[in-house]
Amino acid sequence: MKVPRIKTELPGPKAKAVIERDQLYTAPAYGRVYPLVVKQGRGMVIEDVDGNLFLDFTAGIAVASTGHAHPNVLQAIEEQARKFLHFCGSDFYYEPMAELAEKLCRLAPGSSAKKVFLTNSGTEAIEAALKLARYSTRRQHVVAFLGSFHGRTMGSLSLTASRSSHRAHFAPLVPAIHHVAYGYCHRCPYHLTYGSCGIECVKYIEKTLFRLEVAPEEVAAIFVEPIQGEGGYVVPPPEYLGMLKEMCGRYGILLVADEVQTGFGRTGKMFACEHWGVEPDILCVAKGIASGLPLGAMIAKSDLSTWTSGTHGSTFGGNPVACAAALATIALLENGLVDNAARVGRYLKEMLEQVKASAPGISDVRGLGLMIGVELAKPDGEREPDPELRNQVIRKAFEKGLLLLGCGQSTIRFCPPLIVTEAEAQAAVEIFSLALKEATAS
Ligand code: PLP
Repeated sequence: MKVPRIKTELPGPKAKAVIERDQLYTAPAYGRVYPLVVKQGRGMVIEDVDGNLFLDFTAGIAVASTGHAHPNVLQAIEEQARKFLHFCGSDFYYEPMAELAEKLCRLAPGSSAKKVFLTNSGTEAIEAALKLARYSTRRQHVVAFLGSFHGRTMGSLSLTASRSSHRAHFAPLVPAIHHVAYGYCHRCPYHLTYGSCGIECVKYIEKTLFRLEVAPEEVAAIFVEPIQGEGGYVVPPPEYLGMLKEMCGRYGILLVADEVQTGFGRTGKMFACEHWGVEPDILCVAKGIASGLPLGAMIAKSDLSTWTSGTHGSTFGGNPVACAAALATIALLENGLVDNAARVGRYLKEMLEQVKASAPGISDVRGLGLMIGVELAKPDGEREPDPELRNQVIRKAFEKGLLLLGCGQSTIRFCPPLIVTEAEAQAAVEIFSLALKEATAS
């Protein structure tokens, strides 16, 4: 069957009915991007309730790592569901939880022994890391980055700084959190140029923050996304993560890598930290770990995991069905999908770079594996962000049957399931390119 296939206006009549009902009863806080009403998904394809077929380059925000409804994942879910759905892994034991924890300890970067705490989501993994960092160091202060997104619950929201609307009217947030600029070379916060900058974005923390605002001996942890996700698919300079880790080591500060979005093969390695040979003290994961079932994990070095029985827990965290889905997902990732992400990701990036060469509206193409950002800007030589153009391109791509999402101020992210083929990547780039042309002309 030919995909994409758009046969109704969008939204179609059935989609309109669902949206009207939804809007009557769901919280207005949801930030829906375009009127897609999903009926089912298979592999790379999403079918809406009116029978339109879309090529999915969002993976449900980097979650459907093995594609939609992968038969191995479905089988694992069904087999576990027939045994038992729940028995509270915080209070009792079951094999899928022990097996997954063992697997995660083995997969996490670095050779140190690790311990895992399982959650239902990314934000809960971050909350667990924040609590453990304070608990194990007995320090209160934490450093995070402007542009970062770590979640919506109070602790992780306090670390988040990718849009002020996320935080507006929710204060007071968790105290003793300090935000500094991220390593965003395309828009260097210090107006320096990579190559001659001395990686000022890391040095600032030591030279300025630790000297003027908070003593490093009071800092429990630095929370960092190895590649910023919601902040704009920003890849920091190659030295960045290693320098942060080294600085943390000098002061007994924990490096917490938030790999909720970058993890599980998306960047062409199991974890993004591996690109730079860095072993974080704590690793937080979620999203793609279980192909769509709610699961997250906080993986900490064993010698930090000093918290005693009952200090933290969760009714649903580490649900057995989600653990089974994660084990099936990891098997698929290890058996080819991580490599596919690296290979097709390279191809996709090259194609997008070719589009950039003749598109003045694109100021940057960046990314690793299948985490690729295309930043749009006004063609004024000043790289002024162009969020309107970005939003129009995403809308037009949707109307042509390609699902894309934005991030940052004016970036489009390409984060398809890791099963994507080169032919599908090519089809997506053709639609994107047409959408960009039309949006630029309008
Ligand atoms: N951390 C990062 C890097 C994320 O991208 C997200 C979600 O987008 C989160 C944390 C929060 O995850 P969740 O929405 O599962 O709570």
